[in-house]
Amino acid sequence: MNEGVWRIALPVPRGDLYDYLPVPGTSAPRPGCRIEVPFGRRQLSGVLIGTAAGSEIPAESLRAASRILDERPLLTPAILKLLRFAAGYYHHPLGQVVATALPKLLRQSRPAQLREVPIWALSATGKATDPDSLKRAPRQAQVLRRLVDAPSGLASHAISTEFDAAATCRTMAARGLLEIASADSPVAVDVAPELNPEQQAAMAAIRAQAGQFASFLLDGVTGSGKTEVYLHLAADCVASGRQCLVLIPEISLTPQMVTRFARRIAGRVVALHSGLSDTDRQNAWLHAAQGTAQVVLGTRSAIFTPLKRPGALIVDEEHDGSYKQQDGMRYSARDLAVRRAQLESIPVLLGSATPALETMHNASRGRYQNLRLTKRIGGVPMPHSRIIDLRGRPVDEGLSLELAAAIDTHLRAQGQIFLFLNRRGFAPTLLCHDCGWTALCPRCDVRLVLHRRQAALRCHHCGHDSRKPARCPDCGSDSFVALGHGTERLEDRIRQRWPEAGCIRVDGDTTRRRGALEKALEEARSGRARILIGTQILAKGHDFPALSLCGVVDADQGLFGADFRAPERLAQIMTQVAGRAGRREQRGEVLIQTHQPEHPLLRTLVRGGYAEFVGAALAERAQTGWPPFSHLALIRAECTVATSALALLQEAAASVPLDTTVEVMGPVPAQFERRAGRYRYQLLLRSPQRPALHSCLNHLRAVLEQSTLARQARWSLDIDPLDLD
Ligand code: ADP
Ligand code: ZN
Ligand code: ZN
Repeated sequence: MNEGVWRIALPVPRGDLYDYLPVPGTSAPRPGCRIEVPFGRRQLSGVLIGTAAGSEIPAESLRAASRILDERPLLTPAILKLLRFAAGYYHHPLGQVVATALPKLLRQSRPAQLREVPIWALSATGKATDPDSLKRAPRQAQVLRRLVDAPSGLASHAISTEFDAAATCRTMAARGLLEIASADSPVAVDVAPELNPEQQAAMAAIRAQAGQFASFLLDGVTGSGKTEVYLHLAADCVASGRQCLVLIPEISLTPQMVTRFARRIAGRVVALHSGLSDTDRQNAWLHAAQGTAQVVLGTRSAIFTPLKRPGALIVDEEHDGSYKQQDGMRYSARDLAVRRAQLESIPVLLGSATPALETMHNASRGRYQNLRLTKRIGGVPMPHSRIIDLRGRPVDEGLSLELAAAIDTHLRAQGQIFLFLNRRGFAPTLLCHDCGWTALCPRCDVRLVLHRRQAALRCHHCGHDSRKPARCPDCGSDSFVALGHGTERLEDRIRQRWPEAGCIRVDGDTTRRRGALEKALEEARSGRARILIGTQILAKGHDFPALSLCGVVDADQGLFGADFRAPERLAQIMTQVAGRAGRREQRGEVLIQTHQPEHPLLRTLVRGGYAEFVGAALAERAQTGWPPFSHLALIRAECTVATSALALLQEAAASVPLDTTVEVMGPVPAQFERRAGRYRYQLLLRSPQRPALHSCLNHLRAVLEQSTLARQARWSLDIDPLDLD
């Protein structure tokens, strides 16, 4: 056994590590290189994790690896450690975890070759062209607008996150509108403003820890200059020959962020997002891995992108739910960022106007150094918030008299209004007026949402889509009642009442088509639309200079949520929404409609802002024993036969050792027991001690894997779950 075996991570379902004999006549490359190996009758590409003197597999069953694909490792030692940590922590097979880290093309056996992509900039003709004159070519108009903001040019993948701009750019070059800028020496176009004292203090604290692990929370209201601190930190990295990785939550926010970094950083800025073609993604990834990109911006999965010379990690809007992966390995990119910074010995900066309670708790315990930005830039005062008691008051399609009056006032003052309603469609329930029949999803047992524009009844859980019946299927009556309010219904009423105001609705329905969201946001930003109706899509991170009034149309939705995190989410959304209101000349106003005006957390929020809310909410969590005062794991199981998923979880629950601190809750039916025709159950585990929870999970995993019931029921593990349904 002196030649040893290679231990290779393969992207197969149960796969941990597989042992292979060396490729004949070669010695092992460094860990992190890809190796092609025979697997069954196929050839698979995996990643070498290490070597071992011998194997538990009998020598005669060992096969030899076929070929070495990379001369130099694709994955750095720190990333390999991060992946091993993630596989252990999230109880997920290492082979699959490693595959998540690689862009699609590199999961195959292709060579890891960088392709130079052109950097496009406006030509003289392009600069003289008004984007509005390109009405017939909306994509070209978009490219033109983006490049006006980026004089040193952008690669096509950084131009749009909604369509592949490469072809559009080539067409425009042929028309003489674009030319290729030099790709070698991108220059900074924007000059950094001088930091205000709070920003300076934040930067000084971070600089004091450069070159070593340290975690920081940058806690600053919207518009307090957090992004400016990110830009300074990134510039510091670049100046010292290092790279900076910036995680951002939403694709729709990428364009402005990428432009802002590209204009400021004297170096290559690449963006990793789901709108990229496979080739562009591989290219951006390789620039990061090979050290030729100085700043890497990306969404959740970018946390696994290797950096050759890491300098700092930044997580913007760290509280955002999109950092949690919701299937496969259910990791939190925010939490992994902290672990990664530790492994790379670099600082990590978590920024938010509304940090998660877990993060606030870590900051108050001193695990994160808390950096505060308390003032809005330019002296814009914080908006004034007021609760509107809806009990027993007349409402006009969801609008109270007070809210309607405020809309009038702000319209007269040339303000802009954002009505936040987190429910798309026309009405959440359709009822027969004569017999009480309600429209239910045949596959999920939940109420179908009426979408009146398309005369459709849709299930927001499984996507089931049917026509609204002309008559009640039970009694034949044609008299229906639409109960409750969605954004579509609100829009109808607003357009009737304020026909001149210009109203746009931004939700999952109006932004489905590519480019639609960008267009709507542009409409909103320009102030042409004076009344904005939107779900949380519109509540996040967008900058609307004219916004003066925010109406939270239905706060009860958040207060009555079944999840213990519902109030936290409501507080975050309300604070984010409110943080956009107000200008220097005019103090912003926030009106919150509710049937629960006495709700203690709501009152605390309105009176004392997010910081006081956090204090109260954490006290409540401590009392009830929810995170951050305990750790959770959720085991979900689903099946097409009602009994087997439940029985599987019962078996698991029964096997939890009695002497542990792990509390077992359930199994219970999931909030929507039947979804897409499958029955869903869940088992929640809670423990004040993480190690106890994880050893219990190791035990349960073995039970679940060996159970005969697992053949009929699919199960999955969710560590630190964010959604409990
Ligand atoms: P946040 O990320 O907290 O929302 P930004 O960094 O986007 O805040 O800052 C809000 C606005 O103020 C931006 O237009 C930004 O360019 C500007 N700004 C930030 N810091 C400064 C500063 N020190 N001096 C002048 N303008 C600044
Ligand atoms: Zn009926
Ligand atoms: Zn359904």
